[in-house]
Amino acid sequence: MIHDVAVLGGGIAGAVAALRLARGGARPLWIAAPRGDAFKPGEHLSAAALPLLKTLGSDAVLRAEVHRHAHSTYSAWGSDLLVERNAIVQLEGPPTVLDRGAFEDALTAQALSAGAERIGHDVTGLAVDSDHWLLETDSGPIAARFLFDATGRKALVASKHATRFQADRLGCQYGIFAAYGDHAPRPVTLIEAEERGWWYLSVFADGRAVVNFYADTDLPGFDTGDFEENARGTVAIAAYLSDHGYHRCGRARRIATNSTWIAPVIGAGWVAVGDAAAAFDPLSSHGMTTALWTAIHAADAYLAQDRDQMQRYAEHVARGVQDYLVARQAVYTREARWPDSPFWARRFAIPDAASAPFRAWSNPAQAPTQT
Ligand SMILES: Cc1cc2nc3c(=O)[nH]c(=O)nc-3n(C[C@H](O)[C@H](O)[C@H](O)COP(=O)(O)OP(=O)(O)OC[C@H]3O[C@@H](n4cnc5c(N)ncnc54)[C@H](O)[C@@H]3O)c2cc1C
Repeated sequence: MIHDVAVLGGGIAGAVAALRLARGGARPLWIAAPRGDAFKPGEHLSAAALPLLKTLGSDAVLRAEVHRHAHSTYSAWGSDLLVERNAIVQLEGPPTVLDRGAFEDALTAQALSAGAERIGHDVTGLAVDSDHWLLETDSGPIAARFLFDATGRKALVASKHATRFQADRLGCQYGIFAAYGDHAPRPVTLIEAEERGWWYLSVFADGRAVVNFYADTDLPGFDTGDFEENARGTVAIAAYLSDHGYHRCGRARRIATNSTWIAPVIGAGWVAVGDAAAAFDPLSSHGMTTALWTAIHAADAYLAQDRDQMQRYAEHVARGVQDYLVARQAVYTREARWPDSPFWARRFAIPDAASAPFRAWSNPAQAPTQT
């Protein structure tokens, strides 16, 4: 049997693509291993996600008590001063600090109840056979005419069938912290720059906190020393941890957070959504909103069976990447305290995502690389 359309990947982009396709009557086969219990980082959902969730009819998922509104974000960026950005001045309303697992589970449940058929395994092999794809999975081979690549930064299809770029080698170390005692700290999000990169802390609705350290993985300092000791060597984040008696639970982990994107050419028989299409620096809080937006719009183009609409989708994503690269440079250049730090110096140039992504770097050691 050859399926008309298969969605690969079980994150937000995969769930939303499967949901939108199923609601549109397409009977998608959704190939995605179960999420498991492991903590998944990435919890700061921009307020721009709300209209997209409303489009899906899924905005009620944000009302669960496991999520909280992020009213206050404090950042020490460009100076030692901790500056508050309060959501009261944001017309679109406050962002949300998600219980990421619960959010993905809720979208998954909606996709399944809309009629997406799920195969609970990863795709282990991919080949093209005349007018369809052949996929290897642990539950046997699968044939499909059209693929949604929602496999995140792995970009299973896009990395083989499109030109793919990366602007940096940003990586993240993260750890979960819990507070002793019954005292419930005021939940905050903190961002703090330092010479090798920057730190982030956010408190979940249940009082636990995640602490992330972002730096370039190819520079010394990304994973030097003990993660918790390093966190306690910061200023604002260390003060928050010690004031509220936080200690780390479980070991620190690492994950890629580099900015990657693909050339805006639509593939024959596939489309990339979410991080597989364009993955952003978490500083932007764009990732989950982009996963929602791309999955909705690519699914709509597929349902319309309109090649021009699919091409417009790809071009829209490419323009978004260009805008993002400009905004990324503007935000990073506000931090000028460490001009000799390679991490900060690298972020002073804007790569031209659309036409010549390699030319923006004069120093080859700093050049973005094609993956
Ligand atoms: C440390 C960190 C912090 C972040 N912070 C934020 C934040 O605060 N705000 C924000 O908006 N975004 C944030 N992001 C980005 C956000 O998490 C991503 O943009 C978002 O997860 C993209 O969703 P996705 O579905 O495209 O990809 P993913 O969530 O990566 O999902 C991809 C899925 O594909 C599966 N997969 C991979 N290979 C295969 C295969 N061969 N077969 C089948 N399935 C496969 C994976 O297992 C995974 O389930 C952060 C990311 C990181 C890493």
